[in-house]
Amino acid sequence: MYKPTLKINTRKLKENTQAAIKDLNKFGVSMMAVNKVFNGAPETAQAVVDAGINVIAESRVYNLAKMQHIDCLKCLLRSPVLSEIEDVIRYSDLSLNSEETVIRALAAEAQKQGCQHGVLLMIDLGDLREGVWFENYDDILQLIKLIQSLDNIYLYGIGSNFNCYGTVLPTVTNGDTLVSIKERLEVDLGQPIPLTSAGNCTSYHLMDKGTWPAGLDHLRMGGLQEFGIEYVDMKYLDDYHHSHKDVGLACSDMYILSAEIIEVNAKPTVPVGELGVDAFLNPKEFEDKGIRKRALLAFGLQDVPFDGCHPVDDKISLLGQTSDHTLIDIEDSEQQLQVGDCVEFELDYTALLMACQTTGIKYQFTQE
Ligand SMILES: *Cc1c(COP(=O)(O)O)cnc(C)c1O
Repeated sequence: MYKPTLKINTRKLKENTQAAIKDLNKFGVSMMAVNKVFNGAPETAQAVVDAGINVIAESRVYNLAKMQHIDCLKCLLRSPVLSEIEDVIRYSDLSLNSEETVIRALAAEAQKQGCQHGVLLMIDLGDLREGVWFENYDDILQLIKLIQSLDNIYLYGIGSNFNCYGTVLPTVTNGDTLVSIKERLEVDLGQPIPLTSAGNCTSYHLMDKGTWPAGLDHLRMGGLQEFGIEYVDMKYLDDYHHSHKDVGLACSDMYILSAEIIEVNAKPTVPVGELGVDAFLNPKEFEDKGIRKRALLAFGLQDVPFDGCHPVDDKISLLGQTSDHTLIDIEDSEQQLQVGDCVEFELDYTALLMACQTTGIKYQFTQE
């Protein structure tokens, strides 16, 4: 039965990962590869492992369960849910943590299962998502002492995150703050902190600008290798595969959604009749461009939101979407598009995330 296709290029993903490893290496920084946008696809996890990665991170335990056959450490990126600790220990080797109760539960369960579990202790430097607040130094110190005192659990490192809830940028200032917390901990503990995980792919801009704070030696990277984009200044990076479209939309030709046309016709550009709200209860305005040729595609908002999709054919523009349909303007396209033809889109991060979640799309992994 018909489903639109999402083509994922694992060769380009592997090559981008090799480029990222090399770039970070120049600053003495290692990385774990975040696979969460692909909803636990083992194919993409394998591609980054083939590039030389030895830790894969996912935000859901059920996704780590899908990649047990892959030879690498598995890290749970979203702090563990207390009610799923048994599975956290079973399917992950490491997890990001900030709650004493959860850390104690992890230790008890690891003991039960007879294994060791690594804790990356999160410190919130201002973005206001997970982590112990950076000004509460004593709480950070006490949690580390607790981790060191418990059996079957060890400190993998300390970490922080940016640009997620609070839009806070990774800067030299907050990077230096993390380094000074690390150095103070090392003095108080009388031993080195194994690793300082400074953030996600948005931290890369400090390397690009040559201002990377010395002392930060780890990143958790997804978007960099997945899109070849430096996200703070929003620019495509030369040594990476990425889109060739400069449309102010961070999409990539590594992810191509292809959907079939189910209707082609010429209609007015302004609806006829008294206007109310659309399928999602939003009022809308329409610009009158006369009668134009358009097509209906067999995918909708329940599959992928259209504002993260960019037509590969630049002469096609997006008109809108309902749950099950996407409407495009094909008046200027040089292709003679007909019912049954497919139209291709490059996807941005959000569209890729949603496309990988839905059961309404079929995946194809290519090495083209
Ligand atoms: C998603 C996530 C990352 C990776 O983010 P990218 O922007 O894809 O690099 C890193 N750390 C945490 C805690 C995350 O949730």
